[in-house]
Amino acid sequence: MNVRWSLAGLAAWVVFLSCAPPSASSVPVPAAAPATPPATVMAPHRPTADAYDLVQASPRVYVFVARETRSPIVSGNSTAIVGDDSVMVVDTGQFPALARRMVAELRRLTSKPVRVVVTTHWHNDHVFGNAVYRDAFASTGAVRFVAHEDTKRLLLKNGPKQVAAYRTKIAPFVASLKEQLSGGKTEDGGAMPDQERRDLEEKIADGEAAIPLWKDVELVTPTETFKDELVVPLGGCDVKVLHLGRGNTAGDAMVYVPGDKVLVTGDVVVWPTPFAIGSYPREWRAVLAKVAAIDAVTLVPGHGPVQRDRAYLRDLDALLAAVDAQVAVAAKDGRPLADVRKVVDLGPLGRKLTGGDPYRAGVLHDYFEVPAVGRAFEEAHGTLSDE
Ligand SMILES: [Zn+2]
Repeated sequence: MNVRWSLAGLAAWVVFLSCAPPSASSVPVPAAAPATPPATVMAPHRPTADAYDLVQASPRVYVFVARETRSPIVSGNSTAIVGDDSVMVVDTGQFPALARRMVAELRRLTSKPVRVVVTTHWHNDHVFGNAVYRDAFASTGAVRFVAHEDTKRLLLKNGPKQVAAYRTKIAPFVASLKEQLSGGKTEDGGAMPDQERRDLEEKIADGEAAIPLWKDVELVTPTETFKDELVVPLGGCDVKVLHLGRGNTAGDAMVYVPGDKVLVTGDVVVWPTPFAIGSYPREWRAVLAKVAAIDAVTLVPGHGPVQRDRAYLRDLDALLAAVDAQVAVAAKDGRPLADVRKVVDLGPLGRKLTGGDPYRAGVLHDYFEVPAVGRAFEEAHGTLSDE
C-alpha cells in the first residue's frame, strides 16, 4: 500500500496567511474535540431534507453537518466562517428550506452578514441553497458567489439539467419505490428481507420530504471565479480559497482558515465512502498529497462528521491507489473495461470503510468502485471525458 502523507513536500505552493482567532469572550470555544467517528456509527433516521447537526469546529468555524442516510437523496455539509466584519459560507446544501433554517441559526450566532458564498464544486447537493443567501443578505450588499472557473463552466453546462431533473424525476422514482414496498418482493422476486424493507422505507421518507422542497430551487451561478487561489478577508481573518488540482471534479475548491487550522475540503473527502462519479482518480491522489501538507488540525469533509485526524484521508488515498494500480495492470494489452472490472478487488479496504454494513457496501460499489474504475480506465488510456 503506497500511502503518501509525508510533510516533506511542504512546498511553496501555498503561503499561509495569519488569521488570528477571536477573543474567547466573543465566541465560545468548542467542547473537547471528538475523534473521527468509527465507521459503524449511524444517527437515528430523519429525512435528509429535515435534519442536520450544528457543530462548532473551531472558534470561528461552524458546520451544519448533513446526516448520513440510507437514501440517494443527500445534502452536503454547509460551513460558516465568522470573521470580525462578515461571514463566509462554504456550500449551501441541497434544500433551500434547510438553508433558510441555517440562515436563522447563523443570525442567532452572529450579527455579521454573509458576504461571500464559496461553492466547492458544481453538484446540486452543494449549490441549491445559494439563492437563499443571495436574498437573505441582499440588504447588506450583494453577496459574492465564488467558485473555481471550471465549477462555473460545469454549473452553466449541467446546472439547468440538474434543477429540471430534481423537479420532475424524483416523484416518479418515489412512486416506484412505494410500489416495490407494497409488493414486498426484491427485484429478483424473493421475499424482501427486513433490512431491505427498512432501507426502502427510509428512501421513501426522504423522497417524500424532499419533493416539495425542490419546487422553489433557483440556480445561482458564481459571480466570481478563481484559478489557483483567492484570499478573502473577513476582518481579522484572511481565508484562502484553494484549487489543489482535479479530484472529485475538475473545479474542486477547498477553503483554509489558517488561524483556526481548519480545512473545508468539499467532496474531495466524503465520509464514510467516497463519491467518484465524474472524478479524476489519479489526480485526486495528488490533491490528497497536497492536503497532507496543509497545517490543519480539523477537516470538514463534503459529507460526514468533522474530522480531527488524518485516518480517513489515509484510507481514501489507499483506496484510490488500489484502483489506480489494479486498473493500470488490468488495462494492459488492450483488455476491455468489462474485463478490467472483473479483476478489481477493493477487498479489506472497502470492508474497513463500510464496517461490513451492506448498505454502505452498496454505496461504495455504486458511487465509488464502478465510476472510479471507469474513470481510471479512461485515465490509463488518455481518454478521460468531461463531467
Ligand atoms: Zn456532495
